[in-house]
Amino acid sequence: MKKRILAMLLVAVMLSGCSATKQTGSKENELTMFMHFFGYCVYDEDWPIFKKASELTGVKIIGTASESISDSSQAWNTMIASKVLPDIIHSTYSNLSDLADMGGLIPLEDLIEKYAPNVAKFFEECPEAKRDATADDGHIYFIPGSLSGIDRDALPSKGWFIRTDWLEKLHLEAPKNVDEMYNVLKAFKTKDPNGNGLQDEIPYFARQEGIQDLYQLFGAEYTWHEDKNGNLVYGKTEEEFRNAIRQISKWFKEGLIDSEIYSRGQQAREQLLSSNTGGMTHDWFSSTGKYADTYAKNINGFKWEAILPPADINGVVKEVASRSILHGLGWGISKDNKKIEETMKYFDFWMSEQGRELLAYGIEGVHHKVVNGEKVFTDEVLNAKDGVPTYMRNQGQVEIGSVGSIDAELAGMNEIARKGFLAYDEGGFVRKQFNAPTFTEAENDAKKDKWNNITTYISEIEQKCVLGIEDIDAVWDTYIKTLKDMGIDEVTEIYNTAYKRQNNY
Ligand code: CA
Repeated sequence: MKKRILAMLLVAVMLSGCSATKQTGSKENELTMFMHFFGYCVYDEDWPIFKKASELTGVKIIGTASESISDSSQAWNTMIASKVLPDIIHSTYSNLSDLADMGGLIPLEDLIEKYAPNVAKFFEECPEAKRDATADDGHIYFIPGSLSGIDRDALPSKGWFIRTDWLEKLHLEAPKNVDEMYNVLKAFKTKDPNGNGLQDEIPYFARQEGIQDLYQLFGAEYTWHEDKNGNLVYGKTEEEFRNAIRQISKWFKEGLIDSEIYSRGQQAREQLLSSNTGGMTHDWFSSTGKYADTYAKNINGFKWEAILPPADINGVVKEVASRSILHGLGWGISKDNKKIEETMKYFDFWMSEQGRELLAYGIEGVHHKVVNGEKVFTDEVLNAKDGVPTYMRNQGQVEIGSVGSIDAELAGMNEIARKGFLAYDEGGFVRKQFNAPTFTEAENDAKKDKWNNITTYISEIEQKCVLGIEDIDAVWDTYIKTLKDMGIDEVTEIYNTAYKRQNNY
């Protein structure tokens, strides 16, 4: 009896298997893929965007990375240690380059020419992508991509947001330079713009990276940048940084900066805007602009808007926070892939108009609808609790070898966010992001420990000086000497060697 039921079940399974085969393509069109990045983004077969792609291409992607591993480099190491590599390998440039060096990826340029006209077109449209993807040996081992389109140099990411109703109440204008910004923050602190009779306002706050975004006001750099001779210098070793810390610690002492700036964390905007105490921040347009709607309902007069960047102390109006057009991840074909042609065609689909639209807007009727010829996200997407980008990511809008679009990104923003984003974009304030050079393994080994110790030490001094535990001018000479003892000169040389090699290539 049991046997018969089992046999019947098997037949049923086989039958349904057959019909499924006819509808969705044969099992030959399954490809395995490794995708595990940012520590949390792991390929999921249920992502609707990838399911749709499978419908359109006849290729089903089977993920090989485990979601139970939360460390992407651990997942990567497990994968490259396996005997047979997955067909498609998705990862960061540096991982992919390492794997190519070890012979784990196959060269793509002939395959692109043969099977992938849209990928070929992409490399023509975006020389930067071709440069990034071309290895030292002249071969292309992976296909990079962009979530936002490739028709500019840099994209806005963050901007200055302020309580414009407080400005109006105090008869102040949006600050146009550092002195005016100081005055505005001072007035927020001392003149009770929330009207509760208490000096409980927190003029400047930030949810991540602490005070880092304030450095640009003082003409200081917080990472590597080119000096006037074209050499790379680390910003936090320069006099401009010393001055920035000097000024910022003064602001901190006067209560213009959140006293919990280093510890408040990701919820800073919700906490301080909902309690009607936060005055100004510098953060991502899309998610920050959203609060204009969120709290307008509960807080009388609440107006929260982006303003143009105040000029820095040298009179330069700029925004240093930006995004590269390329997202820095890509995918390639492993040495063990037996379906190279299908894989290349699958890659090509994602670079086609249809593939790009699918990535940018998701599925019609599910994620967007077309109104007067324009794609509009559905209410479910627009009202998603964690914001549109996070929602769409969980639908499969991830950093693959495809190209999204700025229009789609703008379609996911509210009016305040969109207005701010466009003002920064059209004003040309956004500075092109510095791209760290790619290091050889020997260079990495030589700098890694030194650099980790150095950055830890710098953060410690930085924080102590801002909080007033130490005085930047009192510790400066010791600070610079300690950095030298820790090997900053050697690290700087390694950066410059790699940078010049990359740029002369
Ligand atoms: Ca108050």
